[in-house]
Amino acid sequence: MTVYEPLSGREFPRFSGIRTFFRLPYVPVDADYDVALIGLPFDGGVSYRPGSRFAPAKVRDVSSLGRVFHWSRDESFTQKIRAADIGDCPTVPIDLEKTYERIQTFYGRLMALGKRTITVGGDHSITLPILREFRKKYGRPLRFIHFDAHLDTYPAAWDSEYHHGSFARHAIEEGLVDPKGSVQIGIRGPLTGRDDLAFVNKHGVRVCTIDEIRDTGLRPFIDSLPDFGQDPVYLSFDVDCLDPAYAPGTGTPVVGGLTTYETQRILRGLKVKNLVGADIVEVSPPFDSSDITALAALDTMFELLSLYAEQASS
Ligand code: MN
Ligand code: MN
Repeated sequence: MTVYEPLSGREFPRFSGIRTFFRLPYVPVDADYDVALIGLPFDGGVSYRPGSRFAPAKVRDVSSLGRVFHWSRDESFTQKIRAADIGDCPTVPIDLEKTYERIQTFYGRLMALGKRTITVGGDHSITLPILREFRKKYGRPLRFIHFDAHLDTYPAAWDSEYHHGSFARHAIEEGLVDPKGSVQIGIRGPLTGRDDLAFVNKHGVRVCTIDEIRDTGLRPFIDSLPDFGQDPVYLSFDVDCLDPAYAPGTGTPVVGGLTTYETQRILRGLKVKNLVGADIVEVSPPFDSSDITALAALDTMFELLSLYAEQASS
């Protein structure tokens, strides 16, 4: 019988032990758990700085500092959900489309097993094949919460349709997510041109810029976000939504972003009762300093695990 508790830091010093996400048990894909923590080490879809293939290993490394009790929720996520590290999704480092096939096979299996997920990428191109399998499982377009500096609805580049800056456009065009039920948080410029906004405007995606968040004020902004009720929601957290001061280790940093405190508060305030999957992408350890970005990713994983625990108790 697996115990879904992290290795105790009071019994085993935090720098010891085999590294897993949140020091949780490493179990087979078909084991008896609720939330799968998955590494997806692929950065073949980046347009600028690579390195996010190393993120799963680094986030497991800094998981030494993970703790389960959420102060403001007054709860340990391990009391409500069984979360486990199920290892890495297979990838093909030199071939994006073959990687997509492997991702779909892997997540298709997780969907058949009825698992919920938190994935650590990888660059943002990995979200598209994951969403394809969630769309099949839930039988309708998902509602989508997308933290990012970038819209990721950009056109093909170098004659290639699939890259980390086009996944959100494909997700809408393929009917995987409901654009009018979706929200993008942390978006900022500069853009290549005004045309970059045409796609989101045409499809009615709510784009929350940094200006809107700061001008509205954090609490009123959080209150203004939609109530997702029981609709299945997928959440994708591109770490570059954060200001490079808070997340320097990323591929395409954009100045003037959110603070880690702001994303913590927004994640805590989400009105979501049926989160079905989430990912944290674009962490690039070779460009990080003192693991700042990896720790931000770990803390985001904690907030997501706590959100899963909250919905399990309601
Ligand atoms: Mn992105
Ligand atoms: Mn981005």
